[in-house]
Amino acid sequence: MSRVRILNEGDVRRFLPMGDCIETMAEVLAALARDELFNPLRTIAFPPGERSGIGLMPSFRSGDNSLYALKTICVVPDNPTRGLDTHQGFVALFDGKTGQTKVLMNASAITEIRTAAVSGVATRLLARPDSSTLAILGAGTQARSHLEAMRAVLPIEHVRAWSRTPGKASELDGVEEVATAEEAVRGADVVVTATAAREPILERRWLADGVHINAVGSSIAAARELDTQTMVDASLFVDRRESTFNEAGDYLFPLREGAIGPEHIRAEIGEILIGAAEGRTSSSELTVFKSLGIAVEDLASAELILGRAEAAGAGVEVDL
Ligand code: NDP
Repeated sequence: MSRVRILNEGDVRRFLPMGDCIETMAEVLAALARDELFNPLRTIAFPPGERSGIGLMPSFRSGDNSLYALKTICVVPDNPTRGLDTHQGFVALFDGKTGQTKVLMNASAITEIRTAAVSGVATRLLARPDSSTLAILGAGTQARSHLEAMRAVLPIEHVRAWSRTPGKASELDGVEEVATAEEAVRGADVVVTATAAREPILERRWLADGVHINAVGSSIAAARELDTQTMVDASLFVDRRESTFNEAGDYLFPLREGAIGPEHIRAEIGEILIGAAEGRTSSSELTVFKSLGIAVEDLASAELILGRAEAAGAGVEVDL
């Protein structure tokens, strides 16, 4: 029998503040670059005729406190009309030696926070340090958490946001809603794309020199947010090469068009963190971080949360 702790959304938010998550993501991406973690490709299954799908994201860390993690996540695009997050499920941690289940916790909040925290790490490495104008395309869960992450790592003074449904972007805290993506992007130092668009919503001709882009949404092979010319002109950084080759429409569409090749990926973020690769090399360089989200980010977030929850006696324990 396993004694399993159950942690709800409130517990996750309490024990995973954005600032701590940014540091934890920097540590885990560096560990991945040092080959200390096992992060196989995720599996996503879309049942025929359904708009929703289910994703499985396993990972493992060996050593004294070895640990398995699995995020099981249903992605349901229609959920916002029900007042629910599009990402539903749980993250489980298992003892790395015995396989016993240690904890189950809410995955919506982990996904929301850790994704933005990873972009925070990338932005800290790649954006010009004086970047003060932020553009956000999209106004959902990731748009909101990215606003917090960008403010945590840069001296942001002005934020312009665009969303497909008018009125939604103005719900983001302290943000100027604008009518078009172009209006949001022109003159911005940093751009976050956080939509579920299938076709490009960002055009190269809107971007000034030296902009950093976090391309976060449409994180499947069949969809993309950036146009081909943006990808061609940008120095491209990713969370994981293997994932990019298999899952990133933003990379795969230009590749199939013959506009870029595999060598176009400059580095994984972890490689910059451990000093194995260079980040931005000039103030005029256009940088793109293509985020797909990888399983070890969930492992590290869940381990941090579990340690804090155990110390606080939080959650409910059940015998499994
Ligand atoms: P939400 O449903 O909360 O928000 C989606 C946003 O995308 C809304 O603003 C929505 O606008 C907009 N949108 C949807 N379709 C289109 C379209 N065709 N053109 C323009 N805008 C569109 O989702 P999340 O914020 O949770 O996720 C956003 C994206 O990020 C998804 O693609 C998701 O899969 C991806 N994601 C990536 C992660 C990563 O690690 N890289 C992790 C988690 C999510 P409207 O209000 O009009 O519907």
